[in-house]
Amino acid sequence: MNEKLPSEALAFDRQHIWHPYSTMIAPPPVFPVVAADGTKLTLADGRQLVDGMSSWWSVIHGYNHPRLNEAAHQQIDNFSHVMFGGLTHAPAIELCRRLVEMTPEPLSKVFLSDSGSVAVEVAIKMAIQYWHARDLPEKHKLVTLRGGYHGDTFGAMSVCDPVTGMHEIFTHILAKQFFVPQPQCRFEEAWDDSDIKPLEKMLAENHQRIAALILEPIVQGAGGMWFYSPQYLNRARELCDTYNVLLIADEIATGFGRTGKMFACEHGEVVPDILCLGKALTGGYLSLAATLTSSHIAETISAGGAGCFMHGPTFMGNPLACRVACASIDLLLDSPWQERVQAIESKLRSGLAPCKDLVPVKDVRVLGAIGVIELHKVPDHRVLQRQFVDKLVWIRPFGRLVYIMPSYIINEEDLDFLLGKMVEVVGDL
Ligand SMILES: *Cc1c(COP(=O)(O)O)cnc(C)c1O
Repeated sequence: MNEKLPSEALAFDRQHIWHPYSTMIAPPPVFPVVAADGTKLTLADGRQLVDGMSSWWSVIHGYNHPRLNEAAHQQIDNFSHVMFGGLTHAPAIELCRRLVEMTPEPLSKVFLSDSGSVAVEVAIKMAIQYWHARDLPEKHKLVTLRGGYHGDTFGAMSVCDPVTGMHEIFTHILAKQFFVPQPQCRFEEAWDDSDIKPLEKMLAENHQRIAALILEPIVQGAGGMWFYSPQYLNRARELCDTYNVLLIADEIATGFGRTGKMFACEHGEVVPDILCLGKALTGGYLSLAATLTSSHIAETISAGGAGCFMHGPTFMGNPLACRVACASIDLLLDSPWQERVQAIESKLRSGLAPCKDLVPVKDVRVLGAIGVIELHKVPDHRVLQRQFVDKLVWIRPFGRLVYIMPSYIINEEDLDFLLGKMVEVVGDL
């Protein structure tokens, strides 16, 4: 179903509508999409772009998927929403059953919310309420890694990298948290135990005030697309146990197979105390997120002075989103997703290899279905964006990074096309 977008509509957009991290003075062009199907975005002028972004990690099965469409239609024809206070419904129950089944023990209690940032707020509040209930209210700070990104709301912003996390101007009003350097040991590299020393020192000195360590396991996303050693994760888990600090794994970007494992924590031997999921949860159809924790933590919180967990968004457990999430998870589990992600990974490795020798390129790295070119300098994003669209690919550079994370269903031809255009555009810099 193609809708036309007259130029007046685009003028209205420029005049009145904020886009993510956008300016209202001479905003960069936005490209009007009139259809999206599989791995293709159709622009209003009829051009078809091969999508390299999966709409920020989320559209893992491609756009306009018949099974997800069907699930959404069925739920709409039944009911789209009811409040979750005092009511429940099969879509939420079925989704939480799946989440409990597919995540490791002892994660067994699920809090549903509307977006990744809120899932992080919920995780932070769980950690703080947990220690409060254990009569250790002074344990209310968080420790986190430099280079991290956890969302745009205030609690989440407080644990984003103060510089690359995009929230520098709020630094003085955000809760002050503890930061340790970004892990240096890369994913494939031999482990060097000195990498964990800053975290060890930080926890040794400050654990009485720290409720939790929050991190993105293995892959730091929007803070710099950095892949670090699973041993870091394993050592961090040990240290959390030693120092009585909870471990919050933010798998909002990495969850549901993106790194080659269902959850990135599986690259190590780590089970977090609290797990945040979002992005690909509904296959990119609707905004939905989940925060999981153990019975022990949930029951401790519930037995505390407050008598309950202090959170409850209006659209909590939205049935439409839950129904589509169930369908998306079933689709993933019924598919050979591991082989697909592996095949994408090897193509990314071979396709991006020629970039390593290009003058403007600082580093090339690949993990699972994520391919990253890091440049020495921040390029002119407007120019690059235009070039990519002119070459019929949708790739959105960010900072010094040009990266793709395609849907798992992308075929060889489309992936070759994306990679070819990446090499061309970066080569022309
Ligand atoms: C995107 C992201 C978030 C925030 O999710 P939103 O749905 O944008 O609020 C949090 N953590 C990580 C790791 C993310 O990639």
